[in-house]
Amino acid sequence: MSEDKLLQRCHQDGRAFRELFNRSKRRLYSFILHLVGPLDADDLFEDVWARALKAAAGKKPDKLLRIAIRVCREQLKKGDRAQENTGTYVALFHTDEARRLGRALADLPKEQRHVFLLREYGVLGFKDIAQEVRLPLGQVLADMSAALAALGAAPLEAQHKDRCLLYESGELNEQEDYDFEKHLPFCPGCKGWLGAAQQAHAWAGAVALDPPEPLAARVLEQGPAPSVPVPHWMHLAFAAVFLAASAFVWVVSRQFSEDSPSPGARLDCASSSSVREFKLRAGDYGDAWARCLCGARADDVPAPAGSGDRAVLPPHGDQMALIEWSEANLPVSKEQAAALSQCMTGTFGWSD
Ligand SMILES: [Zn+2]
Repeated sequence: MSEDKLLQRCHQDGRAFRELFNRSKRRLYSFILHLVGPLDADDLFEDVWARALKAAAGKKPDKLLRIAIRVCREQLKKGDRAQENTGTYVALFHTDEARRLGRALADLPKEQRHVFLLREYGVLGFKDIAQEVRLPLGQVLADMSAALAALGAAPLEAQHKDRCLLYESGELNEQEDYDFEKHLPFCPGCKGWLGAAQQAHAWAGAVALDPPEPLAARVLEQGPAPSVPVPHWMHLAFAAVFLAASAFVWVVSRQFSEDSPSPGARLDCASSSSVREFKLRAGDYGDAWARCLCGARADDVPAPAGSGDRAVLPPHGDQMALIEWSEANLPVSKEQAAALSQCMTGTFGWSD
């Protein structure tokens, strides 16, 4: 499922929320940690998720990165504390290289740090970054170059470094791509700078961190509880049971309707099969009684074969007994049974 879909559902679907969290936690936490520093990172990370859930519940889901950019910008307006408590990096990272990179990132001016982190953890192209930070593309490329140089890339003397960065991020058009690839083998500066742009991914990977366990647990508690997943085999078992039950009901109901029309069912004068069933049950009174309840159109339905037996009726004149008998033996409603008993005693001058 796409991140957009997960974002739309995260406030009400516990599984979607957890999937979104597990997919994004490392990039998001690394972005925030390196942008604002270890003193504020945990609070802001938690805040981003709270805002994402709120936005989704308000039917206006927002991208996590965009929310993170906003909360970090608000924090940095209060003051840049990335360099404070840099001793934390010793505890956070396990290799000398990671500790060196962590400190070097913290020491960058915040604009350069921002561009580097948007490129590496936001996975944005430089043109998107320019829109995001509302700066000209040239400024964004200059900030990235400066960041790469400070982290240990080749010095800034390469003439075509902007083109190298855009080539590496896949943002050149087809013709520019072609021209650059023709130029590259003959330009040591471009080769070195392209290597630095690729090296940046490895550097970012070396200082990427998951949120600490207690923080992750706090965030997960904010979201909806995960529903218990139903294993695939249970879906199959439910389907099999349902099919078997349906087949059973079908067989039984067919058996029932063929052998003994259900007493108490209503006579439907518009349905040939209903009229036929009524006539079958009514024996040799079938034609007359069906005409009594349905009028002349009942004659359109011939009495089925085997309906010649004379129904055994209760004693003459007992209206209540006739109604009860009709309800018990014929597919008629209470009202129809009453109407029929009128016919039996009146119209037809019933006598035994
Ligand atoms: Zn070049």
